[in-house]
Amino acid sequence: MKIYADNAATTKLDIDAFEAMKPYLLEDYANPSQPYSFSRKAKRALKDARETIAECIHAEPEKIFFTSGGTESNNWAIKCFSPQKDIHYVITSAVEHHAILNTCKNSNCVHMLVPVDKYGTVKPEELIKILDRLRKSIISCESTLVSIMAANNEIGTIQSIKELAEIAHAYGAIFHTDAVQAIGHISIDVKAMRIDMLSASAHKFNGPKGIGFLYIGNELLQSFHNGGSQEFGMRAGTENVPAIVGMSVALKKNVTKIEQHTAYLNRLTELFLYTLRKANADFILNGHPKDRLPGNINISMKGKSGEGLMHLLDLKGICISTGSACDSVNQQVSHVIKAINVPVDYAEGTIRITFGKENTEQEAIEIADTLIKMIRV
Ligand code: PLP
Repeated sequence: MKIYADNAATTKLDIDAFEAMKPYLLEDYANPSQPYSFSRKAKRALKDARETIAECIHAEPEKIFFTSGGTESNNWAIKCFSPQKDIHYVITSAVEHHAILNTCKNSNCVHMLVPVDKYGTVKPEELIKILDRLRKSIISCESTLVSIMAANNEIGTIQSIKELAEIAHAYGAIFHTDAVQAIGHISIDVKAMRIDMLSASAHKFNGPKGIGFLYIGNELLQSFHNGGSQEFGMRAGTENVPAIVGMSVALKKNVTKIEQHTAYLNRLTELFLYTLRKANADFILNGHPKDRLPGNINISMKGKSGEGLMHLLDLKGICISTGSACDSVNQQVSHVIKAINVPVDYAEGTIRITFGKENTEQEAIEIADTLIKMIRV
């Protein structure tokens, strides 16, 4: 038996996405930048995929830049943000993914952290406080980037992106969001939400791994690296046409079914939590009670080891996680769990179950029942 319930780490490739990729691997494999007619299909596929993706987030196609995934998109946004000043400031939340936090650490920006509340939500007044302080010392915030994730990868909390972006703009700052966990799962409209830059990664929405994109609203960035003139001269390197095609098919499919998937994943979540509660398990549900990603369950179990539970479940063929993939390696209480102040006797017993549309109701109950048996030993 194998039950996969770690869809925040990665998802299964959608079969239609896979089928759409095949011709560009085996038949129409030409380099899209070449002038001869054999390249035409690849060139066309690239254009169509860019248009489809742009449509899914209500953007213009020429503002979508293909990258190798979420990590690269975040690095690009943070490191190449190009104010005409020597110093730039980046304000992020305390619960960002390491692809943001470590990038800030390794860039020459001045990094400032906005705290979150017990649900992992960034309160608008906290962002205002930091921007006020910054404006007093540097006069204008034009060299400031505010980067707040759309939804958290560990606890699933969804942020009020539009409100936070409007605050950033009121101070003259630019707003970026790491939407890697959000895209394809909740609706995103870059215009309505006032987003200037957005990072996405295909393998989180049933697309292939190693491909993603960065939406760049208004000539806000310098080119990422040097080489050929691909991606409007902004991101050099031969485009991964099959993966880009797969990403566009997977995204379109997920976006058109968001409501249906949300209802189904909420049902799986309810079933799982109901089964645990019925057995009187002592746990805290982390993250926002309502504003959270569908299918995300992050719980802390009193007096248990999350890592131990993860390994025991693994022995039963069940794949879940202790938090983000990085923290599963570091094996310590994650910065997100610390930031939301989970009590110490619960914090180490944190596990994350993230359902996907392939999971069944039976699987949700099976994971809960197996967990109950384990915590009773
Ligand atoms: N940002 C968030 C919120 C993520 O969850 C992840 C991956 O887990 C990333 C960025 C990195 O994305 P990628 O795996 O495409 O580099």
